Amino acid sequence: MVKNILLFDIDGTLLSSAGAGKDALEKGMASKFGVKHIVDGLSLSGRTDKAILHDLLKLHGIEHNDESYQTMIKAYLEHLPECLKNVQGKILPGIKQMLDELKSKGDCAVGLLTGNLRAGAKIKLSHFHIFDHFQFGGFGDHHLDRDDVAREALAEIHARIDKDFDRAKVWVLGDTPLDIKCARAIGAKVLAVATGWHTTKELESHRPDLVFEDLTDFEMVLERIFA
Ligand SMILES: [Mg+2]
Repeated sequence: MVKNILLFDIDGTLLSSAGAGKDALEKGMASKFGVKHIVDGLSLSGRTDKAILHDLLKLHGIEHNDESYQTMIKAYLEHLPECLKNVQGKILPGIKQMLDELKSKGDCAVGLLTGNLRAGAKIKLSHFHIFDHFQFGGFGDHHLDRDDVAREALAEIHARIDKDFDRAKVWVLGDTPLDIKCARAIGAKVLAVATGWHTTKELESHRPDLVFEDLTDFEMVLERIFA
């Protein structure tokens, strides 16, 4: 029986892909639309890939329609594996051990709650050999707002695990204020970790249930979650 559900964000929480995602966007924009450099001012932190791609096309004066969006998705996904190979990304501290521990416990469901495209998430997690730890998730393919990604993940919980699952036993783990906000949108608990772009102080101001510098002490972190 599933007692707890943990939903992990990817970038800045599970791993650092050292700019590979942005490189793949840049290569995609260059190959499909002849754009050499992505202009500054594109906000990535905690946002969905759909929202990022929407802004990216708009910022470069490219009409945003289904065709241009699909073209960019395809180009981004084509370039992503090679871009991941070309940089020194890493799994963040404590993550591998925490995932192994959750697997061995046997009473936790582990999923994703990420702004990444479903296919992009698979590429990133497979690159670091941790894709098999995740059974389901909410993704950024169809949503501009991360709160809707959380709703997608919750719908998956209802469909796969229990339609009445206690939301106080659902935890979102993320590295940005938007992760905290979207957890609240579905009535879940939230652990914020400062391994991404935000400090513990910044994250604390958004009132997560728990906040940590990193997840090195994964046993203590899990104890706090399961308390
Ligand atoms: Mg993140």
